Amino acid sequence: MNYRARKSRAARAAKTAGVDGLLVTHLPDVRYLSGFTGSNAALVLVGGRSVLFTDGRYTAQAKEEAAGTKVVIAPKPAVTAACEWLAEAGVKRCGFDATQTTVSSFEAMRKAVPAKVRRGMFVAVEPLVAALRQVKDADEIERIRAAATLGCQLFDEALGYLRPGMTELEVAATLEHSARKAGAEAMSFETIVASGERSALPHGRASLAKLPKRGFVTMDFGVVLDGYMSDMTRTVHLGKSSPEERDVYDAVLEAQEAAVLAVAPGVSAGEVDEAARSVLRRVELDKWFTHSTGHGVGLEIHEGPRLAAKQTQRLEPGMVITIEPGVYMPGSFGLRIEDMVLVTAKGHEVLTPSVKAWIEL
Ligand code: ZN
Ligand code: ZN
Repeated sequence: MNYRARKSRAARAAKTAGVDGLLVTHLPDVRYLSGFTGSNAALVLVGGRSVLFTDGRYTAQAKEEAAGTKVVIAPKPAVTAACEWLAEAGVKRCGFDATQTTVSSFEAMRKAVPAKVRRGMFVAVEPLVAALRQVKDADEIERIRAAATLGCQLFDEALGYLRPGMTELEVAATLEHSARKAGAEAMSFETIVASGERSALPHGRASLAKLPKRGFVTMDFGVVLDGYMSDMTRTVHLGKSSPEERDVYDAVLEAQEAAVLAVAPGVSAGEVDEAARSVLRRVELDKWFTHSTGHGVGLEIHEGPRLAAKQTQRLEPGMVITIEPGVYMPGSFGLRIEDMVLVTAKGHEVLTPSVKAWIEL
């Protein structure tokens, strides 16, 4: 990972934002810029310098992971140590990401610096590091690709064990057990297994409900490999389906494929959303598509860009996004299909090529 290049991009962004230093406290941002994965950390970028603050539990780990960054070990919250350092270094205007700073953390920042320099020292700026993180570099794409590939393997394996009568939790447990055995550090989020009527819940966490003899099973899951996450959804049908179930599945699949096809550099996030939504509108199912079409994925499961109606942000090569339209009819059934898609220089590449065609088990 080229942390030096990332840090200089972040420092340039801070300069453009009109501040002479940047305080980074959101842990995925700290990891992105320095490689450090500990739970108490703050990173400051000032001039050409970068300093990472953490505590004694992480002395060895910080030296190893954040090799290219100066490390300061202090027996106090990292944000306090970082702000004391900033005041001593004479930084007049230090940017921070207000979207990742709690009120109490902001109070701690202010308390750490002498009253006479406090005024105007901390300047809320746009989430600069989050903006950089939207476009993945080659190292990140490699890791995301590995996580997505493992996700596909887990789904293919699930096709062999899904049975009526199994609880949703048993399905999740089996899938997660395989994920761990294959090297996953964690799941990206709580595995969603929603079957039968529960498939109408867009975020139906696996429960004690038993898979029905006839009905949909939606599985939405992801794994973490080397810090990077995957995210995919497939919906299969157990037993004989009704014509309505089949029609709705075909419509969601058509919407999903239309949105994937729309992904290319320069296209707006809103246009991709509309590509999916317009297909469902044509068959009057759009009122049941109650969420946005997708989101960025990387060190976190939900990152920018957001693919929703009217979003004007343009896609850029290196972005990794999900495309996940769904239809949810309360009391009846629902389904979703989700892929991870890499925006390339010429168009796109689907990172989760598991079968999407109708599957009846
Ligand atoms: Zn998902
Ligand atoms: Zn998703």
